[in-house]
Amino acid sequence: MTEQSDADGVTGGCVRCGPAYLELLALSYNDPERRPHHQVLVDSYSVQHPGGDDPVAMQRLSICLMTLYLFLERGADARHGPQLHRRMVHRARFTRLEPHPAAQDLHSRLTAADVAAVDATQYEKQLWAWAGEVWGAWREHHAQVRAWTDASLS
Ligand SMILES: [Zn+2]
Repeated sequence: MTEQSDADGVTGGCVRCGPAYLELLALSYNDPERRPHHQVLVDSYSVQHPGGDDPVAMQRLSICLMTLYLFLERGADARHGPQLHRRMVHRARFTRLEPHPAAQDLHSRLTAADVAAVDATQYEKQLWAWAGEVWGAWREHHAQVRAWTDASLS
């Protein structure tokens, strides 16, 4: 079985879906059909694995929720994800979202493993379904995420 060996916590931290995520990342970097959705992949995995209370984890969670919100609810183009993240990091001030959804709640939804399980023709649909589910898990904090987003992009 895969060990929890990656200190980074984003890529290999989850024994249940970390390996599937790494596989999807490699495909996403190399496949021009998948590449436009790359940020959706990264954001979905990140918000399903929010990490600890350190400033780096807190910032990563916050900006990934913010871009997911823009993609899912405001029709933003996922290809602009990296630029959006840069702006958000420079402008926003984040606080911990309290409470986090329970890990069990986060993992009762679609995961990277479900996305890795479908063939290329279903990838986009399944990826966005996953994104919608993990965004939904943070429902309690949607208002805060919208406020951060408005503040950082205004
Ligand atoms: Zn996981």
